[in-house]
Amino acid sequence: MGETIFSKIIRKEIPAAVVYETDSVLAFKDINPQAPVHILIIPKKIIDKIHNFDTRSDSELLAELFQAAQQIAEEHGLSKNGYRLVINNGNDGGQEVEHLHLHLLGGRKMNWPPG
Ligand code: AMP
Repeated sequence: MGETIFSKIIRKEIPAAVVYETDSVLAFKDINPQAPVHILIIPKKIIDKIHNFDTRSDSELLAELFQAAQQIAEEHGLSKNGYRLVINNGNDGGQEVEHLHLHLLGGRKMNWPPG
């Protein structure tokens, strides 16, 4: 597991439109939005894929990622109508940046199945 562009965003070495930040979690607007609201929620700790998420020692972190999603959705007026949380994981999952992240997408009706 190594650094990605998200490490630079965490260290504020490159700009991002940050909407939420705690000691362990950062969230910022996706640079190529796929919905009226498209925010990436990431752990500051480098975890590349779900497989390398330690379900015991990182369990609090998982709760913090969901807490971020709840607050961000609330702040963007998405709680009532809903939204989608997506994790693209690995090559077949369509993951481009190898730093675990949740896509929070909302503000329009989502399609199913995804492409
Ligand atoms: P994924 O395909 O799940 O790995 O998603 C990576 C996401 O990161 C894509 O939706 C990109 O648009 C987004 N992205 C890449 N670089 C940046 C950046 N510098 N700032 C914000 N979003 C980015």
